[in-house]
This record gives sequence, C-alpha cells and structure tokens, in this order.
Amino acid sequence: MNAPENIALQHGFAEQLPELARKASAAPVPAPQLIVLNEPLARELGLDVEWLRTEDGVLFLLGLNLPEGAMPVAQLYSGHQFGGYSPQLGDGRALLLGEVETPDGLRDIHLKGSGPTPFTRGGDGLAALGPMLREFLVSESMHALGIPTTRSLAVVATGTPVLREEGALPGAVLVRVASSHLRVGTFQYARASNQMRVLVKLSRYALERHHTEGLQADNPPLALFDHVVAAQARLVAQWLTVGFVHGVMNTDNMTISGETIDYGPCAFLDAYDPGSVFSSIDTGGRYAYGNQPQIAQWNLARFAEALLPIIADEEAEAVQAGSAVLEQFPAYFNEAWMGAMAAKLGISADLADLVDLVTTLHGLLEASRVDFTTFFRDLTRAARGDRSAVHATTHDVTALDQWLDRWMAHSPDADAMDAVNPVHVPRNHLLDEALRAATAGDLGPYEALLAAVRAPFTPIEGGERYAQPAPPGFAEGFQTFCGT
Ligand code: AMP
Ligand code: MG
Repeated sequence: MNAPENIALQHGFAEQLPELARKASAAPVPAPQLIVLNEPLARELGLDVEWLRTEDGVLFLLGLNLPEGAMPVAQLYSGHQFGGYSPQLGDGRALLLGEVETPDGLRDIHLKGSGPTPFTRGGDGLAALGPMLREFLVSESMHALGIPTTRSLAVVATGTPVLREEGALPGAVLVRVASSHLRVGTFQYARASNQMRVLVKLSRYALERHHTEGLQADNPPLALFDHVVAAQARLVAQWLTVGFVHGVMNTDNMTISGETIDYGPCAFLDAYDPGSVFSSIDTGGRYAYGNQPQIAQWNLARFAEALLPIIADEEAEAVQAGSAVLEQFPAYFNEAWMGAMAAKLGISADLADLVDLVTTLHGLLEASRVDFTTFFRDLTRAARGDRSAVHATTHDVTALDQWLDRWMAHSPDADAMDAVNPVHVPRNHLLDEALRAATAGDLGPYEALLAAVRAPFTPIEGGERYAQPAPPGFAEGFQTFCGT
C-alpha cells in the first residue's frame, strides 16, 4: 500500500487533550467505493485529488491507509439531549484522524460511520449511505449559502450492510472537515471530570483554534464565552433567513467554532410556519424552526455553567459575569437577524420600521402558508413592478398590498435581493427523491441536486423543478429521521 507520505496530519487534540480522546481505529471495509469527492475542498486542504481517487487514496479516506505516526481518536463529550443530561456520549461511530494546516488555520479530518469505538454504547458504529449523502449535500448547500458549517470531503460506500428499521441498507463513511469538533458538550464533559486542569487546557485550546485574541483578554474563559455567544447568535439568525431547521440542537451538536454541525434530521421550510418540526423524534417540538434562538441561548447557558469554575474563583462572581455575557445573546441575535432580513428585503430602514415590516410579513406568510424560499424571489419581481407572483401566494391580497406599499416606500434594490435570496435550497421532496435513487444505485438525481444547491442564487435553464415548491400534499407531515 502506498502510504500518504505527503499528508501532514497533526494530532494536536489527541496530544494536548488526551483526557478527552481515546485511541480507536477504523473498521475494515469489504468493498470500498468512492461515491462522491469534493474536489475544490480537497484542493483547499492541499490534498492530491488524483491520488484520492486511487485505491490507496480511497483507503486513506476510510482511515485505513494513514501516514506513519497517525493517531486516530474518538473524542469524548457529554450533552443535554432534548433537555436531559447524558454524562458520557463521545464519538460512537466517528474518528478524528487528525488536523491539517491550511491558510485559514487548522482543519480537523474526521470520519463518520467508521466502526465501533470505546464509546459506541448500544449502537453499531456504522452509518447508512443515504444519511451520509444527505449530510454531504446539505453541508455543501449551507456553505454555498454563506452559512458557517462543517464541510464534507467525501462519501465512500463500504459494502457493509447496515441494519436499520427499513431493513439492510448500504453502509458508508462520510469524511468531514471542520475548523474543530469542539462542542458545548466537550466542555460539559471536561467540567464533570472534576479536573480543573483539563477545563483550563480545553479553554486555552479552544481560544487558540477559534479566537486567539481572547488569549490576551483579562479573563480568557469569559472572552471565549462571549465569542461563542456572538458566533452562535449569528449562526442561528442565518439559519432562520434560509428556513433551516437543524432538528437536533442538543448541546453535543453545538460547536464552539460557530459552524453548523451534525446534519441528522434537519430540513428546510416549505410553507412558512414557525412551529415547523420535521424530526420524527422531536415529538414535543422542542427544536421547531422558531424555537431555535431560545434553544441556542439555553445551550449557551449550559456552556456557561461548564465554564463557571474557570471564570472566577467565587461562584457568585462567575455566575454574574457569565450571565452578563449571556444576556447579550438577544442583542447579538437581533442585530444579525434584522441585518439579514433587511438584506433579504433589499432595503435599509430604521430598526423600528424594519421590525414592524418583518413581523407583519411573517404574519402574512404564516396565514397563507406561503412557500418561504420562492416568496422572496417573487418579491424581487414585485420590486421590479410585477406583483402577480406574490399576489398568487396569498388569500388576502389587500393586506399583502398594504404591506408591499409600505415596503416599496423604502425603494428596495431588486438586484441586491437576487444576490441573497436563494433559488435553490435542498428541498425536502427533492432530497428525499435523490437519496432514494442513490440508495438504489442511481446517483443521477443526487448529482443534479448537488449542482443546483452549489449555485443557490442562479436559476437553472430547464431546471425549474429545483426552484419550485413541493408538489401539493408532499410537505404535509413530511418527517426526517435521526442519526441513521
Ligand atoms: P447524533 O445526535 O447523531 O449526533 O448522535 C448522538 C450520539 O449517538 C453521538 O455520541 C453518536 O456518536 C452516537 N451515535 C449515533 N449513531 C450511532 C451508531 N449507529 N452507533 C454508535 N453510536 C452512534
Ligand atoms: Mg452529534
């Protein structure tokens, strides 16, 4: 086997935080087959695209042909899952292969579906092809939309059957790239380990990777907290502007980097409804579209609790300092959200006007169950003087016209709107169709949808189906499934 001599994998996490890592290795794979490779990302990482496509390259992507001295590990973390605390989760089916240096800083190379680890608990350590292709495509879409996210380098089918409720499914490994895999849950685990030393090291490591200026702050852990509060507030605001529902915002699925992570039962809104829930396991609607800002703040409170002992010696003082930062969340969120909504509407208005315009509009969209994505593209036509498309979306043309008149008074810039309102998002019906075909061996629909979401703002000649709402009936009751 031709070992990848030229891939300089670093092992900073494994070496500096051994308390949060356990050595593990990828399971053998009977019939590896490269299904999709992200060539632009491979180049960004300094990887040789041609070599990755060879037999040895594919084995590297599976963690089965690593450079000399490689130290793959499963990472430890805890997490609040649907509000309940699990003291020890950790990578049950994932491996951190190491980090690579890029012009933008270190990037983790990580595998999902690579076999059992010391933290596998009741699972099988495996992943099915459909959900891994799902993560690949949705993360590419988010990246193209300008939303911070982990990236996907490749999906490799393994030939190992994976048993799920539906029966035996083709197995696969996703190769994920992230600016780190530090989670709120990583800090929760470090805090619960009762070794202050680990918490201090972890906090310093997080600042080194994500906010080096914070190392010079009077109170570095508090600077880290503030940085993450701001980053997460901006992230959730961006999710809302494209109708994204993460679906499983547990604290182990919330990053310190501010990148979206762990695409399980996520979905994009069809008709606008803040109560939208797609995940089959979210029966209480905890992670509904409109709840996401509050949930992010709740998760950040858990992050603050984990950091308390290193924010100040006196608990009361630490609580006060942490709370003061956390209270900024609504301000960070509203600034990002209103800024993004002003951009979607192509206007600049003072804050009170903007809040009123946005609130009224959302009420109208909800009342008529208007398709969220197409509405904003139709609105650019209204900005150019043609209201027919937006009129067709509503039961109440009079109310919509009143709103349109108020909005037009701000002289919306239609070209600017076209640059920020997507035509293509991974609509649930399209993704469902593409994944069914891919699981049955036909990658055509998947590749076409991937190309569409990688160019989110550009309509495709003859590709109108990628821009249109779900056929009547599809969207009602559509469900996604978690972690499969
Ligand atoms: P998720 O919500 O999908 O990020 O997963 C929550 C936890 O369950 C993580 O610790 C995962 O590593 C673990 N997990 C999910 N699926 C499996 C599986 N098939 N085998 C082992 N562990 C799993
Ligand atoms: Mg997870």
